[in-house]
Amino acid sequence: MSFSTLVKDELCRVELHDACCKKSEIFGVILAGNLFSYEKNSRNVKVVTENAAFARRIYSTVRRVYGLSPEVSIRRSSKLKKHISYSIIFASMQIINKLLYDFEISAFNENDLFPMNTTLKNVCCKKSFLRAAFLSGGSVSDPEKTYHLEIATRNKMCTEIIKEILKDYGINVKIITRKGNYVAYIKEGENIVDFLNIIGAHGALMEFENVRILKDMRNSVNRIVNCETANLEKTVNAAVRQVENIKLIQSTLGIGNLPENLIDIANLRLEYSELSLKELGEMLCPKLGKSGVNHRLRKLDEIADKIRERSKTL
Ligand SMILES: [Zn+2]
Repeated sequence: MSFSTLVKDELCRVELHDACCKKSEIFGVILAGNLFSYEKNSRNVKVVTENAAFARRIYSTVRRVYGLSPEVSIRRSSKLKKHISYSIIFASMQIINKLLYDFEISAFNENDLFPMNTTLKNVCCKKSFLRAAFLSGGSVSDPEKTYHLEIATRNKMCTEIIKEILKDYGINVKIITRKGNYVAYIKEGENIVDFLNIIGAHGALMEFENVRILKDMRNSVNRIVNCETANLEKTVNAAVRQVENIKLIQSTLGIGNLPENLIDIANLRLEYSELSLKELGEMLCPKLGKSGVNHRLRKLDEIADKIRERSKTL
């Protein structure tokens, strides 16, 4: 099941108690998911969805609020038998007139609706509107892949209402046009979480947050591992260089001819090339700290460098 489907299934189970919210949901569905047609001078508003639960929800909400039933038609695509789409058709002028009145919409137009002013005054209704718009034209990417939530609609006004409402919540909405649709989208993970919270998709929100936390953890673990790998590489390279230098000293000057404080460390490094500076220091007698060991090994490097210089001039 896609993450979008998970969210929508949950939203279809959100209960609406107040009539104002039910009306706002119908308004959102029609505004975001509308397909208008003027056939034989009759106005016709149609909402098409592939989600059976959503189709049932629209149908029963309209019935409950207006006491009138929209028509429902079911289409099965011939190619894929499983592919079913549901059309909820508001053909009755009675319903349309009630909608026009309730939402102070001046006119239906083939491409647009013209709400004279937004009737979404209550917070509960704004949330209902957003939920409905998401159910109609929304989708959200699987958080494992990317953070992207969008609502696509043919209605420019709809995206503007969405943007306006979400601005009050501090959610940054961008609008673009795509194939004749207006698309309101949210990119930041934090904002998507807020949006899911507002529309009441709390289960999906938890799921989203879990993925987000895991992703963040994975990123920081990777960062630490990368950092440690880099450090380890540096340590290994240094040890290899030290051993080479000591071997050079051994074959030319002889380790026994080194200053006394360098003899032990040179022998230890030759024997234990894999040990850290701290571990080497602990093997010395008396014990020596990390920086002391480092200092002596640098001395050995310098001596080896001098031997090399001299062999060049000879
Ligand atoms: Zn309300």
